[in-house]
Amino acid sequence: MAAQTRIGLAGLAVMGQNLALNIAEKGFAVSVYNRTTSKVDETVERAKEEGNLPLYGFYDPESFVQSIQKPRVIIILVKAGRPVDETIKTLSAYMEKGDCIIDGGNEWYENTERREKEMTERGLLYLGMGVSGGEEGARNGPSLMPGGSFEAFKNIEDIVLKVSAQVPDSGPCVTYIGTGGSGNFVKMVHNGIEYGDMQLISEAYDVLKNIGKLSNDELKEVFSEWNKGELLSFLVEITADIFGIKDDKADGYLVDKVLDKTGMKGTGKWTVQQAADLSVAAPTIASSLDSRFLSGLKEERVQAAKVFKSGGVDEILSNQAVDKKKLIDDVRQALYASKICSYAQGMNLLRAKSVEKGWGLKLGELARIWKGGCIIRAIFLDRIKQAYDRNSELANLLVDPEFAKEMIERQAAWRRVVCLAVNAGISTPGMSSSLAYFDSYRRESLPANLVQAQRDYFGAHTYERIDMPGAFHTEWFKIA
Ligand code: NAP
Repeated sequence: MAAQTRIGLAGLAVMGQNLALNIAEKGFAVSVYNRTTSKVDETVERAKEEGNLPLYGFYDPESFVQSIQKPRVIIILVKAGRPVDETIKTLSAYMEKGDCIIDGGNEWYENTERREKEMTERGLLYLGMGVSGGEEGARNGPSLMPGGSFEAFKNIEDIVLKVSAQVPDSGPCVTYIGTGGSGNFVKMVHNGIEYGDMQLISEAYDVLKNIGKLSNDELKEVFSEWNKGELLSFLVEITADIFGIKDDKADGYLVDKVLDKTGMKGTGKWTVQQAADLSVAAPTIASSLDSRFLSGLKEERVQAAKVFKSGGVDEILSNQAVDKKKLIDDVRQALYASKICSYAQGMNLLRAKSVEKGWGLKLGELARIWKGGCIIRAIFLDRIKQAYDRNSELANLLVDPEFAKEMIERQAAWRRVVCLAVNAGISTPGMSSSLAYFDSYRRESLPANLVQAQRDYFGAHTYERIDMPGAFHTEWFKIA
């Protein structure tokens, strides 16, 4: 092996193995280690097969740490939570002042802040780095969101600039996010936005399939076409692919055989919890989480479908005359407008957290580093970046002049799709809650006056008046 390697990577499951190979391919000699040693052999074997890459395997933590040049930099990619603490304990026993640990997992941001404090007390530097893009991204260029010690970031800047996805005209998909757990937090919200995108796409599919009666071949064509315009994105692209894939175990298409139950690992739930904690409305992201919960109730839904069979919805569906071409165009517009609302919510959550923690997040820069490598990569992110370039203090993406124009142009089609779905008994929680978000946000007056009057009636919570300053209380029940 090289006299000493430039960096170490511990944790060689899907993400770690691929990121290690990516780093080695960019010319940085890398040491690798995994608790279960067979994964070390596997990774070394792949490094040989993929072009004799400078990657060196170690079976024990001490020789792994010793093989790395000082100040040592070690990326950890193990299961989030306790495994990270255990791995830090194992490796840090051999590390020295000035060395640096980077956790690349989907970690809860407060765990990162706790660990950073603990490591600082021991003279070690710490980064929590969101890594997006799954297996393919890790191998060929992920979007990287490092937050924590700036000094630690400087130690790996040359590496992350090369291993991250490279987008022409936008540069490498990495930037120093901020202090503390900001990198993990940004990755968490990225995943929440990803939940929203996937939900909205699935609703577009549902409407086109069940109201428009489109076949899988037609759906493939529609999504492929959409992927040439404003909806161009990784998720729309893979959706088009999915509709074309035949079942390899039986007749028909594979997508029709996949059980309608969505799994999850927790970052979407954290996003919604954080939105609630910070009083930021994020109904599209929340509805995508609720949809996953409801999808999990498959057995109950099967029973409920029997109970409500006579509800008349099937009849409505079969009697519905639809202009396919128009429906496809309306759904495209509804999807795009709903997506703008979902991103507005995610960005507002990031800004609220940034203010609370003093992270100084640059929202436009986040849109830039999500343009490549990650699951939500999309041409649309350019528009978000431009919106924040125009006005970094933008209160909401919806009121950026460009987005506002797009919303106005699309709202008629969007309302048609939601109405059609409601009447047909097809649930569109993402599109509907996006529309409700838009309609609440754009209205000068809401019925909140009545809610506040009720609060004052039963709880003496007081209210403000529209015509004079101050807090008022009325003994409503005495007058009534
Ligand atoms: P994973 O399935 O989350 O974790 C498996 C790895 O964790 C293995 O290396 C395993 O070692 C190690 N591990 C588990 N418990 C351990 C312990 N107590 N002590 C030491 N090592 C332990 O792997 P992954 O899918 O590659 O993900 C790694 C991290 O990246 C996670 O935080 C994940 O959420 C995040 N992430 C994943 C993806 C993805 O697409 N998979 C995308 C972005 C981010 P053994 O081999 O010894 O069991």
